[in-house]
Amino acid sequence: MKCIFCGNSESKVVDSRYLKDSSIRRRRECLKCGKRFTTYETVENNPMVVTNVDNMREPFKVEKLRDSIRHATYCTDIESSVDEIVSKIENQLFALQKQEISTQDIVRIAIDVLLELSAMACLVYFTQHTDCNSFDGVRRFINR
Ligand SMILES: [Zn+2]
Repeated sequence: MKCIFCGNSESKVVDSRYLKDSSIRRRRECLKCGKRFTTYETVENNPMVVTNVDNMREPFKVEKLRDSIRHATYCTDIESSVDEIVSKIENQLFALQKQEISTQDIVRIAIDVLLELSAMACLVYFTQHTDCNSFDGVRRFINR
């Protein structure tokens, strides 16, 4: 990304905004002349952005979700329905109609979906994706 003022190719991002049309507006600062300019970048086929606990944003990656479900359902009787489960979760995420979702949203929906199908898979997923490692923690998580 070249600076529009001096042509230098190194700049740092000072601010990023995710826009409704799935593009990202970034404010950049040239590392040479120090001037600021704006760029627009498109996130192709990734309408949703995920915010994690550290407030970092990244495009929603279904592969990541699939990996976690595959892991949770490993050696359970729903092991063969990973794809079905993933699309069910994905549909519920899309149904939220939010451009920005949190990892919490994903975990909560995945737990709901898994709970209907296999208590074992749900428990594995739960312990992997939450910091609730006590019975009280589990109850607090389910009740919120
Ligand atoms: Zn410059």
